[in-house]
Amino acid sequence: MSTATHEETLGFQTEVKQLLNLMINSLYSNREIFLRELISNAADACDKLRYAALDNDALYEGDSDLRIEIEHDASANTVTLRDNGIGMNREDVIANLGTIARSGTAEFMQQLTGEQQKDAKLIGQFGVGFYSGFIVADEVTVRTRKAGTSAQEGVEWRSRGEGEFSVADIERDKHGTEIILHLKDDAKEFADEYRLQGLVRKYSDHIEVPVRMPKIETAKDDDGNEIEGSEVTTWETINEATALWVRPKSEVSDDEYKAFYKHVAHDFSDPLTWSHNKVEGKLEYTSLLYVPGRAPFDMFERDGARGVKLYVQRVFIMDDAEQFLPLYLRFIKGVLDTRDLSLNVSREILQQDPKVEKIKGALTKRALDMLKKLSKDDEQYKTFWSTFGSVLKEGPGEDPANREKIGELLRFASTHTDTAAQEQSLAGYIERMKEGQQKIYYVVADSFNAAKNSPHLEIFRKKGIEVLLLSDRIDEWLMTHLTEFDGKTFADVAKGELDLGDVENEEEKKAQEETAKAKEELVKRVKEALGDGVQEVKITHRLTDSPACVVLPEHEMGYQMRRIMEAAGQPLPEVKPILELNPEHALVDRLEASDDDAFGQLAHILLDQAIIAEGGHLDDPAAYVKRLNSVLTA
Ligand code: ADP
Ligand code: MG
Repeated sequence: MSTATHEETLGFQTEVKQLLNLMINSLYSNREIFLRELISNAADACDKLRYAALDNDALYEGDSDLRIEIEHDASANTVTLRDNGIGMNREDVIANLGTIARSGTAEFMQQLTGEQQKDAKLIGQFGVGFYSGFIVADEVTVRTRKAGTSAQEGVEWRSRGEGEFSVADIERDKHGTEIILHLKDDAKEFADEYRLQGLVRKYSDHIEVPVRMPKIETAKDDDGNEIEGSEVTTWETINEATALWVRPKSEVSDDEYKAFYKHVAHDFSDPLTWSHNKVEGKLEYTSLLYVPGRAPFDMFERDGARGVKLYVQRVFIMDDAEQFLPLYLRFIKGVLDTRDLSLNVSREILQQDPKVEKIKGALTKRALDMLKKLSKDDEQYKTFWSTFGSVLKEGPGEDPANREKIGELLRFASTHTDTAAQEQSLAGYIERMKEGQQKIYYVVADSFNAAKNSPHLEIFRKKGIEVLLLSDRIDEWLMTHLTEFDGKTFADVAKGELDLGDVENEEEKKAQEETAKAKEELVKRVKEALGDGVQEVKITHRLTDSPACVVLPEHEMGYQMRRIMEAAGQPLPEVKPILELNPEHALVDRLEASDDDAFGQLAHILLDQAIIAEGGHLDDPAAYVKRLNSVLTA
């Protein structure tokens, strides 16, 4: 009966094989999600056909009543899903159902461990999609034909999920896709009407396309007995089948919002929060934005998927419309449905349309407000921050207009708790500021410990002034853009003149000046001994425990950023530090008392140590060791 021709057997891409193996093991306790994934794909296929048919009605082939049908056969142990969506041609089938064409997939797969719990989480983050059929099926058959092609151009794909699949040409009079799952022995429970209906309602109620199941009706005679041979099949729509975002907020339950999130975001786990808004007036749009509960595996890939699903007057236009949100909010998922764009809008047009910029501005505000609300819940916000905080830190640089709002959302580690957890808000910092303190102080280093133990903090600790401890790669860059918050400026404690504002009184300042004066001769000698190695030598009161530290001029690029740029192969002009000496320290006393030879050794040692304490690299480490040893053995 089969008219299949041009049959070939192909191997799955390595990553697909790995995914299949792991998925089957790790998602066993969650296997019902296969139905959600396949319905989600069928709904996407209907959306795509509706879009393509906008300028070519013929693609409907006379059947514009888009729908998904689910049937089962308990005796054959099969569940069949059918859609009259866009369908696939042979090339599509091989690419879509034989490979995973997402960048970073191979790297992602390497992270999988073989441990069920961990991998289930990771796979969820990746999105299981079509292949989830193999969690319940030992054989999957796909019959499909792309809308607009001839009946001869149908394709049949078959696989047992064991490394290879076959494709063959078939005749298929309808466009769209049919997926037949041959259930595994232990998954027979799914060949059941009630079970399937329950799952459709649980996972796919929000899908706009109707999901139908057959209902066999039998006519009855006057006595109420079924009339033999009178069975007719009618189709019953199981899901709500209206676009969720179109419904009023008050009528949508949390569970429905969550289920819808999984469909739009291709995610497996619940979102942290969402914001659903209808806007009428100059701009007319409905948006439903979500904050995911975890990062997609490709968040830091340049070409990772991002943006919202775009609809124009309920018609699906495109996935991942990235023009409506700034990059630093790329983790936000959701839907935008607008009347302000035309149905034949393309990515190119989106880039030029001034309305897009306006909607982007509005959505950005919505998203920031949503995060602000989320920040009221400490636990949830901790999850958010640890997942997306480093992305949000790109905000002040990318979007100066919203700097203040973003500033409210930032969290830092600080000397307030001295723990690595980034939990302090700037508002909290300002509340704790000392009397007379005008600036928000921070230190940047390569690691939390280096920041926490930086010699620059000594005076701040002594005076009880809080300092933000920054050690993320992006932090120094962030601080070059965050210049101000709530009317307060920021100061890097390792740069420029030490300025404690009015925390120090006149007497202290005077005493410092006097000490500096008394040590003028020492400073001169050190500068002579170090020559070009330093820009300047000074007496400082920053330090309580360390003998010396290096300070960078106010507007010089910091050490963290320098190291990042150098690692990226960027040539940078040499920077000469300012060496500051602690007049209270025994080593400085000893330096002062040394004769010229020992003086030179010790001065170099102090400078090199200060550079090391900063996390810096010495140009000539061997010379440092030699000098140190000669002093130790003297
Ligand atoms: P995703 O949905 O995240 O793209 P899937 O693994 O679920 O990933 O599906 C892979 C691809 O296979 C889809 O992007 C789509 O191109 C194609 N596909 C799957 N199911 C269908 C379907 N019912 N009709 C048309 N294309 C489909
Ligand atoms: Mg999918």
